[in-house]
Amino acid sequence: MTFENDFKIIKNLTEIQSCSGNEQKIRQYIKGTVESYCDKIETDILGNLFCFINGKAEVEDSKLRIMVDAHMDEIGLMVRFIDKNGFIRFSQVGGQNPRILPGANITIHSSSGEEIVGVIGEKPIHLLEQEERKKTSKLEDLFIDAGFSSAEEAKKYISIGDYIIFKQECTPFIGNKRIFSKSFDDRAGCFILIKLIMELSQIKNNLDKDLIFLFASQEEIGVRGATVGAHKITPDLSVTIEVTHAIDFPGINKEKFYECKLGSGASISTGPNLYPKLTKILIETAKQENIPYILEAEPRPTPTNARAIQMTKSGIPCALVSIPLRYMHTNIATIEYEDIIHTKNLIKAFLLKDLKSTIKL
Ligand SMILES: [Zn+2]
Repeated sequence: MTFENDFKIIKNLTEIQSCSGNEQKIRQYIKGTVESYCDKIETDILGNLFCFINGKAEVEDSKLRIMVDAHMDEIGLMVRFIDKNGFIRFSQVGGQNPRILPGANITIHSSSGEEIVGVIGEKPIHLLEQEERKKTSKLEDLFIDAGFSSAEEAKKYISIGDYIIFKQECTPFIGNKRIFSKSFDDRAGCFILIKLIMELSQIKNNLDKDLIFLFASQEEIGVRGATVGAHKITPDLSVTIEVTHAIDFPGINKEKFYECKLGSGASISTGPNLYPKLTKILIETAKQENIPYILEAEPRPTPTNARAIQMTKSGIPCALVSIPLRYMHTNIATIEYEDIIHTKNLIKAFLLKDLKSTIKL
């Protein structure tokens, strides 16, 4: 597969507007893309999508069941109040940065099924008081202008609780080395799952394990899809694919955080949320396959699905691998294509290893 073919999938994945609790569109797209490669596909009440590939190789004991997950929801907003002039006030779905919201293009996905275009308004610079210029607007002061003149007019189209999602064209920078878009968190992980399904389904006759790919819902509001999904699947071990902060831009201190830049390859997390033997095998695999990687220290439960998966039933061994990403939770999240491919190749090589001995302490 070339960049052009991959980019088509990446563009579709990141441009689809589907926030936590509103995953129908992204779920449908992913299902349509992978269905023909899977042995079985299931969904559940929370909106999770489970894709199964059953290994066909003869094995003496029962086959390992491995879950690989990425979350398919993105951050968004929700209609909270419509004022008498038809302006819309909103609450956040997931962690928003109010500093970058004014000026954004959005779509209101109305419960009646219509898609309503809107913008997050902002005072012109000429009309800002000196003191206002120094401050950032608070989230509760922001409003959406969807072209209505009155509450009555707005309410013909929009209801309280409608989801609001950012609009952004997925765009490669010059030379196709890097791409910016919204929702790389975690559609970049979803892309890797899709590629793994396509590639591993071709060699399942030699695969000595069953793979369950979980495209999880509702991660951004508290890893809710993965909590239920892990309970349903109860795999022998699990790998979460996420994005992490590349901080190679001006004004940020790597000594205070960590060293992660675009082009780092795969970021392998280590800490109590993760199973040391799996982390060790990932590191060994990266070395053997000449895949660039960095280590990320995670002294607490990670802000990822692995947090929920590890605590399922009597405990599940987890690994976490992330793709470096600049400007997370904005519409201009920037990623390096090769980092996505390196991360995919690392997970693929890991899944092809004999992992039976790793699930005992
Ligand atoms: Zn994420």
